[in-house]
Amino acid sequence: MPAGPIRKLSASGTDPVAYALPIGGDELALAPLLGQTLRLSFTGGIRCIHCDRSTKKSFGQGYCFPCYRRLARCDGCIVRPELCHFANGTCREPAWAETHCRIPHFIYLANASALKVGITRAHQATTRWIDQGAVQALPVLRVETRLDSGLAEVAFKAHVSDRTDWRAMLRGEPDPVDLAAARDALFERVEASGGDLPGERLGAESPVRIRYPVLAYPRSPVSIDLEKTRRVEGTLIGIKGQYLLLDTGVVNVRKYAGYQLEIPD
Ligand SMILES: [Zn+2]
Repeated sequence: MPAGPIRKLSASGTDPVAYALPIGGDELALAPLLGQTLRLSFTGGIRCIHCDRSTKKSFGQGYCFPCYRRLARCDGCIVRPELCHFANGTCREPAWAETHCRIPHFIYLANASALKVGITRAHQATTRWIDQGAVQALPVLRVETRLDSGLAEVAFKAHVSDRTDWRAMLRGEPDPVDLAAARDALFERVEASGGDLPGERLGAESPVRIRYPVLAYPRSPVSIDLEKTRRVEGTLIGIKGQYLLLDTGVVNVRKYAGYQLEIPD
């Protein structure tokens, strides 16, 4: 029986995405479970995904409180990269930042529930898009640091949303968007409003299409809270973004990184 602390879903491929659930050091392939009854039990234990110590509560999607306070990846500037304070010498972990923040990033347009803008480290762009449940994505700008990606995103956000409506994302396929046309229109609007964009514009990229293993979409997705509902049972009808879609509700796996689960055969 697969058991142990879990991590966010791992994914490979895009047509369709092949998902696996990392659990107790193993990878549970999810494709064979589609259409089958899936049972999950939360044992009550949580282990920090960084230092592995037991923690009563999870902070920042998987960390113990000391790690949450100490790690640069848990700092507020990760959510708001335009506030990167590396240059002030106040980064919590400058060595980590050198390999995670001070590297090339993309600003992209994607369609998960509707058109949105986002940022990602260049080398893990596809993973980022899959995690968000995007069905189309297009990198539009390449910059050299996370700080610059944040500044560019701020300029774009005046004209386009940076949010995904997770319920809409899980209710079905969004209407297709012409991302190349949206990109050209956005560049014009940013320029017209005097916005200054760092980096290199990516005018020749083709949009990426991503297909998810979904047999049926829930009409009104209800989020299952594993802290309250410790035993979950339902038919696995699909996987999209970081969500397991059961006919009894949806589970946002990323939220439960470090939680110890049991999955009876
Ligand atoms: Zn920790």
